Amino acid sequence: MTARSVLITGGNRGIGRAIAEAFIANGDKVAVTTRNGDAPDGALGVAADVTDAASVDAAFTEVEQAHGPVEILVANAGITRDTLLMRMSEEDFTEVLDTNLTGAFRVLKRASKGMIRMKKGRVVLISSVVGLYGSPGQINYASSKSGLIGMARSLTRELGSRGITANVVAPGFVRSDMTDELDDATQAKYLQNIPAGRFAEPTEVASVVRWLASEEAGYISGAVIPVDGGLGMGH
Ligand code: NDP
Repeated sequence: MTARSVLITGGNRGIGRAIAEAFIANGDKVAVTTRNGDAPDGALGVAADVTDAASVDAAFTEVEQAHGPVEILVANAGITRDTLLMRMSEEDFTEVLDTNLTGAFRVLKRASKGMIRMKKGRVVLISSVVGLYGSPGQINYASSKSGLIGMARSLTRELGSRGITANVVAPGFVRSDMTDELDDATQAKYLQNIPAGRFAEPTEVASVVRWLASEEAGYISGAVIPVDGGLGMGH
């Protein structure tokens, strides 16, 4: 198999970094966007802020020069600004939408040109169980994450006949610096709703993303794949 050009947004830490490492282990040419210059060993780090179309364009140009057109795009960059609706400012809402949803649109639009030309491409959008299930205090985040489903499905209908697939991965709770900092009582409260009885490891999300980009998954498009230990079953 020839090494493919892979770009992951927000690949300097957390789930994005684990996804980058999975593709590196696969022998692909991996680039990650980063705002602080840090990138996993073996990946090309390119500066980009997904809220800024010009910086996204410059990052793609850099990746294309180094690795060729992006064949696999993982839109992973995301933020939260949690608070209850009554207290949520319009800025809290639009900032999250601009990063999580419009940010995915910006990278998708830029990547689609090369994918159409190559007549192949894999797009994976990192959503969340919250996009299907809802969550108090996360109207902004949940809206952005469910929007990604409409994005992947519309892309599937628009470009599915050009050898391009688009899927959504919806993680539940993933072990991170944030979950590690929760006290035992709070962790236990979250865990009692998760049939698997534990949080996911970032590598468990990464392996699903890598598989969706594999030849074996070539006929899967417009799907929402939960990686949530059963938390969101039925949604
Ligand atoms: P982290 O907070 O650890 O990492 C988020 C990444 O997104 C960082 O690399 C960050 O860059 C990047 N990012 C944020 N804003 C921008 C921006 N404007 N431009 C470019 N990059 C940006 O998050 P996780 O690894 O936990 O989450 C990754 C994805 O998975 C997110 O979309 C999140 O919503 C989703 N998710 C996470 C879950 C979890 O339990 N952790 C559960 C379900 C979904 P920087 O380092 O510069 O800030």
